[in-house]
Amino acid sequence: MNSSSSQGSSSRSARSASRVGSLDMDAYTLIKSSYPVEWDYGGDPIMCFCHKIAPRWTSWTNGNPGRRFYGCPKFLEGKPYCKKFHVWHDESFPDRAKEVILELKDREKLLFNEARFWKNQAKMVRQSAVDYVEAELIEENALLKQECGYLRSKLQDGKRWKWGKMSFVVGFIFYAVSLFKM
Ligand SMILES: [Zn+2]
Repeated sequence: MNSSSSQGSSSRSARSASRVGSLDMDAYTLIKSSYPVEWDYGGDPIMCFCHKIAPRWTSWTNGNPGRRFYGCPKFLEGKPYCKKFHVWHDESFPDRAKEVILELKDREKLLFNEARFWKNQAKMVRQSAVDYVEAELIEENALLKQECGYLRSKLQDGKRWKWGKMSFVVGFIFYAVSLFKM
């Protein structure tokens, strides 16, 4: 009992440390009845009426929230199981403790739904920002293409003018040479 309770507290502190700021909403599941299922609970394994190792479950019923018990593993497989095999691991909790646990369970559900709502909102905002930037880029691209076309035509005009000027100079040189020859 002692070793299991110290294990419990150390795993709880490790979990709270790792969970700060790293809650994976997609992988997160709400507290639900009979979970978690622990197969390795230290000490001799407890056998159910089917002579199978009974895992340790956690009850989340209103009558026994958070209280651990040993139950038939066939329940997990959906097969016929020894329903009458039910051994509590924990003593019954005081009524006030049950009240507090149930209240926290309700709040967990509320906060979970709230977190899911805001996660979806954030996704929508991100998407609209992406759409906006995409539209801006398309517009910018069209303007740049237009600008490029204009500059290209200017360049062509410039080349034409340069060749015209050169042919005039060459013509003048020929004319001067012919005058000189005379
Ligand atoms: Zn069984």
